[in-house]
Amino acid sequence: MKATHYIHGARVEAGSRPLSPLTSPVDGTALGTVTAADSAVVDQAVQSARKAFQSWGAVPVKERVQVLYKFKTLVEKNIGELAKQVTAENGKTTAESAAGIARGIEIVEYAASLPQLFAGEILEVSTGVDCYTRRFPLGVVAGITPFNFPAMVPMWMFPMAIACGNSFILKPSEQVPFTPLMLAELLKEAGLPDGVFNIVQGDRETVEAVLDHPGITAAAFVGSTAVAKAVYDRGVAANKRMLTLGGAKNHLVVVPDADPVITAKNVVSSAVGCAGQRCMAASVLIAVGDCDHIIDAIEQEMRSLACGKEVGAIISAKAKERIEGYITRAAERGAKVILDGRGQQRAGHYVAPTLIDGITREDECANDEIFGPVLSILRVKTLEEAIAIENANPYGNAACIYTTSGATARYFEMKAEAGMIGVNIGVPVPRDPFGFGGWNASKFGPGDITGKDAIGFWTKTKKVTAKWTAKSANWMS
Ligand code: NAD
Repeated sequence: MKATHYIHGARVEAGSRPLSPLTSPVDGTALGTVTAADSAVVDQAVQSARKAFQSWGAVPVKERVQVLYKFKTLVEKNIGELAKQVTAENGKTTAESAAGIARGIEIVEYAASLPQLFAGEILEVSTGVDCYTRRFPLGVVAGITPFNFPAMVPMWMFPMAIACGNSFILKPSEQVPFTPLMLAELLKEAGLPDGVFNIVQGDRETVEAVLDHPGITAAAFVGSTAVAKAVYDRGVAANKRMLTLGGAKNHLVVVPDADPVITAKNVVSSAVGCAGQRCMAASVLIAVGDCDHIIDAIEQEMRSLACGKEVGAIISAKAKERIEGYITRAAERGAKVILDGRGQQRAGHYVAPTLIDGITREDECANDEIFGPVLSILRVKTLEEAIAIENANPYGNAACIYTTSGATARYFEMKAEAGMIGVNIGVPVPRDPFGFGGWNASKFGPGDITGKDAIGFWTKTKKVTAKWTAKSANWMS
């Protein structure tokens, strides 16, 4: 099967640079091929999107969102097929795939409520003088997305972007190009005019063609930090409005009064859900004081999860090797590998849940984004030390605390330097109308990618100052 581009409502085969053939992380079966879009293909998508924008941007918002109501129903009807496709190309379990799509549906719901959120403001600023605002779409906009949520992360972007009246070009990860094509076809079935949603497949060069194209006015990006920063800089240099979300190193702080049963279940599901390949995954457990009883419970919980059943696959052989390298080096440096997930012998790419105790603050396991089902334990004496470690790390996506004390939780919530805080929740994803977005090296650009800020990102406002005197009114009558 070919992962084609999708331009003006149709699959398009174009481009001259084939990328490596894709195999499923689940079992190694062949999935198909992708040919990267070059600048000519990107331009074709921009021309289509620009043409579509001329009418779509002028459709009243109440009418535009009707497409999203239908799209939501279609995604719900097809969630089984979509989830199967996500699993085939990404490797996560089908339950995880369906959960990601369900989260995407929530964003469609929020975008469909845009008529309730889109109204401007008006104020009489002096006698007979009114100031008011209207929102306008930006035009042709783009989204560049990572491998780990083939449906959900694109759905963070395009429902709101198109509800706001823009035409959208998606550049999905070249590792998961098929699911977005299914979404494109559901949008068409829902009645979205051709050209409002387009896909260009490809890798770095395609991204650069998107960023350099003068016909694209804004772009959102989600992926690793180094790329997020480079993409942000290149887009801004090309005068685009940019918002780019990067990687993460999330700390879960556990204090001795935490409930061991609830904490263990929650920590483990954060660390090994989606095989640890999510930007909200628990990566370092900071145990404050004597938490041995909780760590024992975490170990037992991890042991109960079967690799290949409850724990899905790793995206590629290269990623598996990278994750295993972290475990090997931690063991060589004298850390205690309580559970060792290396060496899984089966078709596909798997690393079993891994628990490493006794890492130091300087250890690479305490600092790098491992992006696999590996939880490293760092032991400290005080909550202050734990917070200092969390705040010293350059990322700022999520930080969580496990405690039964409201005062401790609130103290942590106020002090931790991260955009998303969890209290007894290891994946503290804010749900609409609250926006998703980290701090520091986890995000470049203002505002969040979902929630209310998304409306601001995908639109521009016009401020009107109008003076109508009694005389003018007489003239009109
Ligand atoms: P990635 O940065 O390798 O790729 C992301 C996108 O950028 C892909 O579409 C890819 O084709 C493109 N790309 C890759 N290298 C590029 C380059 N040099 N120049 C321009 N474009 C380039 O990320 P990934 O491996 O697909 O995804 C995993 C990463 O994404 C992790 O770091 C994870 O934390 C992060 N992520 C962050 C969030 C968040 O909300 N902050 C959400 C999901 C994933």
